[in-house]
Order: sequence, then structure tokens, then C-alpha cells
Amino acid sequence: MLTQTIARMSKSATSSTLDYPFGDQLPESGGVIEVAHGVLWLRMGLPFALDHINLWLLRDRLPHSRTGAMQEGWTAVDCGIDNPATREAWLSIEATHLQGLPILRVIATHMHPDHMGLAHWLCERWQAPLWMSTGEYQSAVMAQSGVSNFGGEPTMKFYAAHGWNKTEDLLQIKARVGYYPSMVPQVPQAYVRLMADHTVRIHGQDWRCISGYGHSPEHMALHCAERDILISGDMLLPSISTNVSVYAQEPQGNALQLFLDSLTKMQNLPDSTLVLPSHGRPFRGAAQRIAQLRAHHDERLSELLQACTEKALSAHDALPVLFKRPLNVHQMTFAMGESVAHLHLLWLGGQLQRELHADGVYRFKAAQS
Ligand SMILES: [Zn+2]
Repeated sequence: MLTQTIARMSKSATSSTLDYPFGDQLPESGGVIEVAHGVLWLRMGLPFALDHINLWLLRDRLPHSRTGAMQEGWTAVDCGIDNPATREAWLSIEATHLQGLPILRVIATHMHPDHMGLAHWLCERWQAPLWMSTGEYQSAVMAQSGVSNFGGEPTMKFYAAHGWNKTEDLLQIKARVGYYPSMVPQVPQAYVRLMADHTVRIHGQDWRCISGYGHSPEHMALHCAERDILISGDMLLPSISTNVSVYAQEPQGNALQLFLDSLTKMQNLPDSTLVLPSHGRPFRGAAQRIAQLRAHHDERLSELLQACTEKALSAHDALPVLFKRPLNVHQMTFAMGESVAHLHLLWLGGQLQRELHADGVYRFKAAQS
């Protein structure tokens, strides 16, 4: 799963025209950059091709859970994976950048391990509640407990049905279990529910939850109109395109359509909005970035449709159409999910037909007009 969630997509359409108000500055490990008054940018390492995640600390004020007295502190948005280096970085931030104040609340935009891994540790350390959507919370519980593993036999069969038939690769995928719990060893036992269009009051200001689909079950971005800031999570990234995959658990999913529809909810934000993404640098120009992403996917979809006009293709056959570079097994796992997502958008939209061939493989060809 992590290969899919973290080693995201290839570089996408140029982002050079976006405005990066902090230039090339990046927070050091254990350090912060204040991107707006009371909004701190943290950057934690990841042991993947995508080597970092951005986290945010927002100055906050909340009633004490027992006494009801107002308490000054911080809300953390996202957590990093659970490993010694990330815990170390958090301890360093705690010692030097929290102004002696506690973390009062932990918000997770979604359940992926780079966002969720240390939620249990932060929540316990500070006796702070976890806030996230129900879809994400329940998916985290299931993935952590091994009920829904994103590797193992179901995933192997799913890939095989989409034309990936190299035995040694499939055995490697079958053996890949326990990946999520290795980075998310626990999930807090309770949470506070975030819902689409509800607002979260942070330091006296309203942050509206914007739901997002296609990347994860029920992602929540947070937008504060008063402050002109969007915490976009993984739903809007400046220089890579968000991973949008169909998984074995929902084999008929239309993840790419859901993702593109979700972007609509963010495309009317003003150009002045400071976007705080989970990967890459803070930027301005949300609408422009969304237009780039739409163009990027449109181009791939039209190439794919063209290729499927010439001959029926499986998702595995379609990989060279979508990915111009050679892929190793690790990269192939997320590329396959992306390939199925693109084919499904065209299939479920009526532009492709899906056939199950005698070899047990689904192939897609242009629909007869
Ligand atoms: Zn993610």
C-alpha cells in the first residue's frame, strides 16, 4: 500500500508558473518555518522515493476536556510515519518551537501512513483527541488490524486479472502483508468526526472541511476563508500529481473520476489563497494548478483511448502508454492502480468496453459508436 500511497505519481504538468512565496526555503528536520501568523510548517523524512511529508502546527485555544477552562496550545495537522527519526524530530520541535504549550488536538487529513503513523503517539503523549473523517478512521483501523491489507493474495489476484502475470512479481506482492501496521502500529481507540462542509474552530477562526475522494476514502482538506489559507493534504500538490488508484478491495472503483470531481470543490478559491500541501512547497495559484492537473489527466486519457481503438488492452498492456519510463516492481504496483483508474474512467463513462478474456484478464477496447 505504501508503495502506492507514498511513491506517488510521476512529475506532472509544469508547475513553474505557480507562486512559491517561500522560494526554496525548507524547514530542517526538527525545525519549523512560520508560513502565516501562528501557522508552522514542519517537514518529516520518509524512507521512500518521495522522501518527505509536510505537517502543520496551528496555534489554538480549546476548552479543557474536563474543566472546560480555555487552554492555549496547538493543533497538529498530520503526523508522519512511526519510526525513531520522526519521533525524534517531534521531540525536538516540542522542545524548541511549541513555546511551552501543549498539543491540544491532532487532525489527520487521511489514513495513509505518512499522515497517520504517529497519531497514536501524539494523542497519547498529549492526551489530545484525534479528529478525522469516519471513512478515513475506519479504513485506518481495518488496515492497521490487517482486515484490509493492501498486499497479499487479493491484491495479487487483482493485478493478475489486469494482465500482470509475471510469477516472481506476483509472489512478491502476495508476500507483502503487514506493510501498513509497520508504519502505523496503532490507531487511537476513539476519534472526533470531521464531516464535509462542517467547520472546525481553530483559535477563534473557522476552517471548513472540504471532502476529497479518489486518493483515499474520505480525505479532508481544511480551508480558512478569513485567513485565505488551504491545507490541501494530498488532494492538491504543486509538483507531482496525486496518486489515484483502483485497489483490489473496490475493484470496480472509479477513483479518477472521483478525484477530478473533488478538485471542483477547490477550483474557485482565489489566486491569493496560500495552499499548504503535504508534499512539495507552499504555493499560490490553486485554480491554475487544478487546470494543469486536469490537462495532464485529459492528455493521458485521450492517449489511452486512442491506444484502445487500435487494440484491446489490459491495464498492464496500457502501462507504456501512461508511463514513459521503465518501472520496477515497486513502481509497477502503484502504476497498475493508476492504469486501472484511467481505464475505468473511460469504461464507466461509456467510451471503452471491458471484456473478460479466456485467459482471465480484463481488456478494454473502444466502444462501438
Ligand atoms: Zn495520501
